[in-house]
Amino acid sequence: MSLKDPNWFYEKMPDDGTAFGLRIEATLLDEQTPYQHLQVFQTQGFGKFMVLDGCTMVTERDNFLYHEMMSHPALFSHPHPKNVVIIGGGDCGTLREVLKHDCVENAWQIEIDEAVTRAAEKFFPELCEANNDPRAHLQFEDGIAWINNAAPGSIDLIIVDSTDPVGPAEGLFQEPFYRACHKALGEHGLLIQQSESPLLHAQRVTWAMHDITRAAGFVDTKTLFFPQPIYPSGWWSATIAAKQTINFKRREAAEKKNFETVYYNAEIHTAAFAQPEFFKKRQAR
Ligand code: SAM
Repeated sequence: MSLKDPNWFYEKMPDDGTAFGLRIEATLLDEQTPYQHLQVFQTQGFGKFMVLDGCTMVTERDNFLYHEMMSHPALFSHPHPKNVVIIGGGDCGTLREVLKHDCVENAWQIEIDEAVTRAAEKFFPELCEANNDPRAHLQFEDGIAWINNAAPGSIDLIIVDSTDPVGPAEGLFQEPFYRACHKALGEHGLLIQQSESPLLHAQRVTWAMHDITRAAGFVDTKTLFFPQPIYPSGWWSATIAAKQTINFKRREAAEKKNFETVYYNAEIHTAAFAQPEFFKKRQAR
């Protein structure tokens, strides 16, 4: 079985000499949008599978890990999250998780590429089941511009569920964007952003995110860790930057949550923030 086998899709990480593959049974969509190459496959073992510019995005089988861990730990770390903004997130899975929280009054999803959401509606309808919630506001524009125009102090939580830091997502990992987020967030405001693989990208992305968000005015930053099989190395992270100290503010609410999850619970929340030794050493500098 070679990387050229037409019955397999591989995301290759040439810098690290690794690749991740899924056996595919059919190509369901193959479209060049104004922003990226959008593909959807039917796979043998992971259900439907979305790929953007050759990078794995979402599968039916394992997306719950990412969408739950990008949403619930941050939401339960805020005293009263009412207004939430998702930058990117076009597959709508993060929006669905956010709207499981009754305390959320508004959830904006700012996705630059409408084609991604239309594909999700067709091939991942289960991820889109909250799209018609009256609290949901789907807008198709650049998240950087949207945050720049947000009223100061108007947002409680910003979730950056973007592609990797290249192309339209590149600016989402830079100080001007973090400064704009800091301004848009209220006094207890939190920003959480997917911060790539702790094994492969800590130096280049994860630790840089701590430094850059702190330079932008955030006073506390923490990385949380979770498995994500289809992403490079299978070990993923999200980093929270806060205007006040990050802690499990609504632990009891998490323990008594009134909605279903597949992975997240209060114990997983606590465990996800446990810092690997090499992270501790880096932060002790
Ligand atoms: N979970 C995936 C990951 O970690 O790579 C991300 C899923 S979601 C499909 C990523 C989305 O971010 C894409 O649909 C892409 O169009 C969107 N995106 C990238 N840059 C953006 C920007 N500046 N503003 C809004 N959306 C953006």
